[in-house]
Amino acid sequence: MNEKIRLRFAPSPTGPLHIGGVRTALYNYLFVKKMGGTLILRIEDTDQERYVPGAESYIIESLQWLGMNFDEGPEIGGDFGPYRQSERKSLYGKYAQQLVDDGHAYYAFDTKEALDAIRAEYEDRKETFRYDGITRKQLKNSLTLSAEAVKIRLESGSPYTIRLKVPRDEEVLINDVVRGEVVFRTNELDDRILLKGDGMPTYHLANIVDDHLMKISHVVRGEEWLPSTAHHILLYRFLGWEDTMPQFAHLPLILRPNGKGKLSKRDGAKFGIPVFPISWEGENPEDSFEGFREFGFMSEAVLNFLAFLGWNPGTEQEIFSLQELEEAFTLDRISKAGARFDFEKASWFNQQYLIQTDNAELGKLLKPFAEEKGYGVTEQYLTAVAGMMKERVNVLPEIVDTGYYFFEPVREYEEKMIRKKWNPDRKTALLALNEQLENLPDYQAEKLETSTKEYLEANGLGFGDVFPFYRIALSGTTKGPALFDMMEALGTTEVKKRLLTAFPAFDEVFAKKNNS
Ligand code: GLU
Repeated sequence: MNEKIRLRFAPSPTGPLHIGGVRTALYNYLFVKKMGGTLILRIEDTDQERYVPGAESYIIESLQWLGMNFDEGPEIGGDFGPYRQSERKSLYGKYAQQLVDDGHAYYAFDTKEALDAIRAEYEDRKETFRYDGITRKQLKNSLTLSAEAVKIRLESGSPYTIRLKVPRDEEVLINDVVRGEVVFRTNELDDRILLKGDGMPTYHLANIVDDHLMKISHVVRGEEWLPSTAHHILLYRFLGWEDTMPQFAHLPLILRPNGKGKLSKRDGAKFGIPVFPISWEGENPEDSFEGFREFGFMSEAVLNFLAFLGWNPGTEQEIFSLQELEEAFTLDRISKAGARFDFEKASWFNQQYLIQTDNAELGKLLKPFAEEKGYGVTEQYLTAVAGMMKERVNVLPEIVDTGYYFFEPVREYEEKMIRKKWNPDRKTALLALNEQLENLPDYQAEKLETSTKEYLEANGLGFGDVFPFYRIALSGTTKGPALFDMMEALGTTEVKKRLLTAFPAFDEVFAKKNNS
């Protein structure tokens, strides 16, 4: 156990956790495991306007489904709690005050209306307003008002915010583990709000204070936070915490499946793919999403796929169990370039995991998908079906979709082979063979195969005389699983029934062919 390595995953409960957030959680998780450190879940819920009920439990359920365990967090506890920022509210004010007292922050009294009006004026001139080292001089704040005026405002309870006083003409250097040295000029940074009118800290203040108090060693998060990091570094400096500042690693963007632009939650519907781990029920249909889980992905495959979205082990190996990932993962193999969200690759990973997974386990996982279709079958039957179908599909529900004939009558017969090779005379041999098989003491795949071979030999027939027709009768296709496995699963009565249903249909194709 390395007590110095402490990482946090710090989602804001503003909606369902996007797959990019899941990747961030995973990289934090993997690094912690690799280093023997501690993983913390911190809920950053200071923005009450954007708070969405249910989002926190969604985050926790998603992480649980994926099998990522945390060491400290809201429902786990730990020595550095509470782990929800709203429950730490009383903690932040004093740091904002300290910054004001030290001249690194100031009170701003501008009303929302006043700032909106200024913003609009700027927009009219096709400019963008920024509250910064230049504009602050014309605005209502403790840097422009007299000490007396400030005192009166504060004492009379006038609403205010506290803003960071970004110095002019300096450079802020970020030494990012992924991106190397990144330099920001302070003249390009705005005076970010640290404490809001409602007394709540903004993300920036709370994040820095908590990372410090929780002794966070590494901040691993999405690239969209890189510009804020310049402000964060100033905060560490002004609070006197620069020596223990965490190391930063900003993860590359996740790009759309077509490689064009950043993947967004709307792309799920657009490309017909999941971009969330599990389903989310929003207020209206366009805010409701199905997740990887509902698409039938196995959580291990999702993790493996996500691990490769911005990282690679430097070898040819692609299939990694979570434990193998924990051993192989290093921050220095995270790439700078955006990673394309290749859904076909995700499906490929899932297929590899399906093949590897024990049939009984798959039978269990298939149960809800079968039930959804109204197929009342046993787990044992699903286990058998999974065994036959798993190499032919990418995701679990495909087993019950493509392999529907294991649960209901054949819907359609592939005509091509029937057209070419069927002849009503073939029925006699097929029925005779079927009767021989029905009478076997044990209706089991290998026995069925041996007995069929004997029958063919005794009657001077070849495989081609019976196999394709048998298969089409049972499944509608010649491409399904092995014939004798299917027969064993369906059982004598069903097999006989399907043959008798198929024959008139085959004869019809034959008649049509001869009449045309
Ligand atoms: N609360 C931020 C988010 O929602 C966390 C960013 C960070 O990790 O610092 O992504």
